[in-house]
Amino acid sequence: MTLTTHRVLITGGVSGIGLAIASAFAQNGAHLVLGGLISADEGSEISLSMQRLGASSCEIDRTDISDAAAGRRMVEQMIASRGGIDILVNNAGIQHVAPVEDFPAEKWQQVIDINLSAPFHLSAAALPAMRKSGFGRIINIASVHGQVASVHKAAYVAAKHGLIGLTKTIALECADTDITCNAICPGWVRTALVEKQIVTRASQSGQTVDAEAHALVSEKQPTGKFMEPEQIAEMVLFLTGPASHNITGSAFTLDGGWTSQ
Ligand code: NAD
Repeated sequence: MTLTTHRVLITGGVSGIGLAIASAFAQNGAHLVLGGLISADEGSEISLSMQRLGASSCEIDRTDISDAAAGRRMVEQMIASRGGIDILVNNAGIQHVAPVEDFPAEKWQQVIDINLSAPFHLSAAALPAMRKSGFGRIINIASVHGQVASVHKAAYVAAKHGLIGLTKTIALECADTDITCNAICPGWVRTALVEKQIVTRASQSGQTVDAEAHALVSEKQPTGKFMEPEQIAEMVLFLTGPASHNITGSAFTLDGGWTSQ
């Protein structure tokens, strides 16, 4: 697939799953705007590495998307400078782990703002340009936690369930156009977001980090293996390609069997 004319915005595109998605688009020649909370120097390095992979261009946008107005501006600026937006990947997300009765209200709000409200605001800002050009793909990186719950993840589970609902609504509102909206629901992927949880578990149990990583993945995923960021990226590419034009409003689990149980 060659995507040299595609303008792609990936929130959280500078690390973990988002970086793998960015790399896959770069290898196909896309124009990239990658969001994320990193330093200017780190951003320059990532931008160069994307261009080395084959991206037609790569800009880093360090907007904090927990600010709704700033998130909308980020999309509007991209549309103004690139003349449009073809693909929006709402990938940025955070986690906080605590029982409901101890869950800090500000953490609840932050998780909802970044994991659910930002995809709403960015999609709302992108859709007019997509409608104008007659083409658009919105991919929301949800989670198995958009379909099932785990203890101590109230805000994350609520946000990801909400994100799947948002995905279906956008899909229906755009059904008479060539704009699709789908969600991907990964199981465990060993990124910074999960590493924090593994390290906390290891410090509580006294086990090594690798032993805890194995225990964590095996508790939920019958395959006993983490999903790889590149596998999520392949699914994103498929959902933005020509074979998937009639796939919309769906949530795809890539979870080593987690939700089959
Ligand atoms: P990560 O921590 O590597 O990436 C998160 C990204 O979000 C970072 O680039 C960060 O800069 C960005 N971000 C966070 N807060 C932001 C803010 N306020 N403004 C702008 N950017 C912000 O984690 P990851 O595992 O790659 O997660 C990517 C997505 O995949 C998340 O939505 C996560 O919920 C989802 N997910 C991850 C897993 C997993 O096991 N890692 C499983 C299911 C779903």
